[in-house]
Amino acid sequence: ETKAWPATGGSRSHSHAITLTHPDRVFWPDTGLTKLGLADYYADIADWILPHIAARPLALVRCPSGTDKACFFQKHSWNAMSSLVHCQSVAGDEVLFVEDLDGLLALVQSGVLEIHPWGSTLRDIERPDRITMDLDPAEDVPWSVLIEAAFEVRERLRHVRLESFVKTTGGKGLHVVTPLKPKAGWDETKAFAQSLAEDMAGDSPDRYVATMAKRARKGRIFIDYLRNGRGATAVAAYSTRARSGASVSTPLAWDELSASIRPNHFTVDNLPTRLAHMKTDPWADLGRADLGRADQVLPESQKL
Ligand code: ATP
Ligand code: MN
Ligand code: MN
Repeated sequence: ETKAWPATGGSRSHSHAITLTHPDRVFWPDTGLTKLGLADYYADIADWILPHIAARPLALVRCPSGTDKACFFQKHSWNAMSSLVHCQSVAGDEVLFVEDLDGLLALVQSGVLEIHPWGSTLRDIERPDRITMDLDPAEDVPWSVLIEAAFEVRERLRHVRLESFVKTTGGKGLHVVTPLKPKAGWDETKAFAQSLAEDMAGDSPDRYVATMAKRARKGRIFIDYLRNGRGATAVAAYSTRARSGASVSTPLAWDELSASIRPNHFTVDNLPTRLAHMKTDPWADLGRADLGRADQVLPESQKL
């Protein structure tokens, strides 16, 4: 069973329709969301997600038979991969990328339920243009404490004249994202993120840890700086998660961080309505080269 999508042609601005096989296949059994429903979601919000995924190396979480069957993390091309998903050789290694809505829909056709970009673009692959601080709470950490942690990351970044933006992960935590002018290399950027995490853990050892070891984390938040090494990824803003509820990683304004919005609050069901009614994009400034008060480059001194 196949279906040319969308059936009506309609208002899509790209050049040709994707053929979706098994459009009625249920990807999220708990919500009933199908492959066609996922394609509709991405077509609807394409302008929001594309700036975060287009022309960046991607790692993909594929679940061809849905979230309750096998899922795997894929960084390289596969048999029968659509020609709308592109490959490029980077220092002897192959990276995957898409450029537009067609490429995004080709990912849906291949059962991609999560999209994880690098923190750099193909134009300047060795110099990251964003930092992602990934806040990973242990089970018993109150939500209010996680919010405080996100604000503390923001304050410490501001202290070195870096502006930052927050999003839910669609899972358990929050991501604080800082745009950078692509100047520093990966090693320098990761070292900066690590020193930020270590400073926080050093100042509040009862709240934060900066090491991966699981047993060190009880009752604490792991300030996961490891998203910032070469080849590391973090889930894209507006990507769905292969988790219950078809949750979506969702950019927020800082003043939206509150008890009522949990990390899995926004979903394929309720996010399009939020975006349709939003007066200003909480992340509008992230893409602007001139953020007004800061040049968005790593500081000379790494004291945070
Ligand atoms: P949460 O809020 O639940 O922590 P998260 O997306 O931050 O959600 P993490 O487990 O903290 O989840 O981060 C895992 C990150 O590591 C992913 O976002 C992904 O980009 C990256 N990653 C690297 N290798 C893998 C892999 N094999 N499987 C899954 N994720 C991987
Ligand atoms: Mn996380
Ligand atoms: Mn993590």
